[in-house]
Amino acid sequence: MVVINLAGKNIDSYCGKCKLNLDHTIMTMVGEEISKVRCKSCGSSHKFRSPLDIQKVRKPRAKKGVGEAATAEIIWEAGLAEAKGKERDYSMTSKYRIGDIVNHQTFGKGIVMKLYANKCDMLFKDKERLMASTNE
Ligand SMILES: [Zn+2]
Repeated sequence: MVVINLAGKNIDSYCGKCKLNLDHTIMTMVGEEISKVRCKSCGSSHKFRSPLDIQKVRKPRAKKGVGEAATAEIIWEAGLAEAKGKERDYSMTSKYRIGDIVNHQTFGKGIVMKLYANKCDMLFKDKERLMASTNE
C-alpha cells in the first residue's frame, strides 16, 4: 500500500476557532487519513474537519401559496410607503381616491388601488379585496 503523504499541503477544513471553512495546512497523516491540520488564519492546530457544506444548510421551505401572499405583501408595503393619501378608518359610506390609506378593523391597513361604482379595490397585507364605498 502506497501511503501518500500530504503533510505540508493545503486543504480546506472547518476551523472551530474561526467558525469558518478556511485554508489549512496538513500537519500529520494517519494512514491515508488527514489527522491534524493547522489553520492559516488563526494558526491553531486541530483535528481535520471536512468543510461544512453551507449549501446543505436547510432553509425553511415555503408553504404552498405563501409566494403569492409574499408578493401582495411586498406591493402592499411599497404602496404604503408611497401612498400620499390621507389615512382614515374604512367606512362603506366614504368616498375614496386611488392611493388613499384605509384602516380596516379586521384586515388592517389597506391602500386604495382601483375605483369602481360603489366599490373599490383595496390592497391589504394578505390580498386585494373589493370593498364597498360610495364612489360614483
Ligand atoms: Zn482558524
